[in-house]
Amino acid sequence: MTDAPAARLAAFLDELEGARQARDVTVIVVTKFHPVELVRELADAGHRDFGENRHPEARDKAAALDGLGLTWHFLGQLQRKKARQVARYADVLHSIDAIELVEALEGGEPGDERPVRDALVQVNLTDDPGRGGVAPEGLEALAERVAASEALRLRGIMAVAPLDEEPGRAFERLAMHAERVRRVDASADWISAGMSADWREALQHGATHLRIGTAITGNRPAGG
Ligand SMILES: *Cc1c(COP(=O)(O)O)cnc(C)c1O
Repeated sequence: MTDAPAARLAAFLDELEGARQARDVTVIVVTKFHPVELVRELADAGHRDFGENRHPEARDKAAALDGLGLTWHFLGQLQRKKARQVARYADVLHSIDAIELVEALEGGEPGDERPVRDALVQVNLTDDPGRGGVAPEGLEALAERVAASEALRLRGIMAVAPLDEEPGRAFERLAMHAERVRRVDASADWISAGMSADWREALQHGATHLRIGTAITGNRPAGG
């Protein structure tokens, strides 16, 4: 493995090229905890999709690199109180997991800037209700609510594989849940799944958006 993130990105895209079997796949480079210079380096190398999971770190990076035409993906748990602030800079919200969040995104004062954002409903593949994501039984109701919202555009589904399960099995369930979302809106066909350790399995089960951190950025600085 080479040291420069741009070289690792190129190597990753090469490997993906062999694995993706002619499907369109978007690689989101997850840059949380890394300095904005790392994002700039990858942007200079031609990459456009970046993921962050914490506000205001995400806000500050998006502001620092404003004008480069980057697409920012917000991946972290969204707090209701912060949701509208996040929607100001995040082009894609991957972690919509409650109807209250949709309501919060629709709120605000008349005249507020309120861009329509791409949204993925996050499903919880674990048995722990404390983890992010809506419980599978609530998936349709949430997807329908997002599809009906004027603040959001329903694009598909997102999930993180549980730590204590073979990822392929978890992503098989995710593929089934993705089908349920497509029954709500046939065009909502994005599947955001797969991280550095499990992206091959995610790809096998239909992932369209991979969220890759350490395999491209290297280890996160302390705290990450
Ligand atoms: C950090 C993070 C990733 C990337 O994880 P790596 O193992 O570093 O590839 C992907 N998705 C989410 C939601 C994350 O928080």
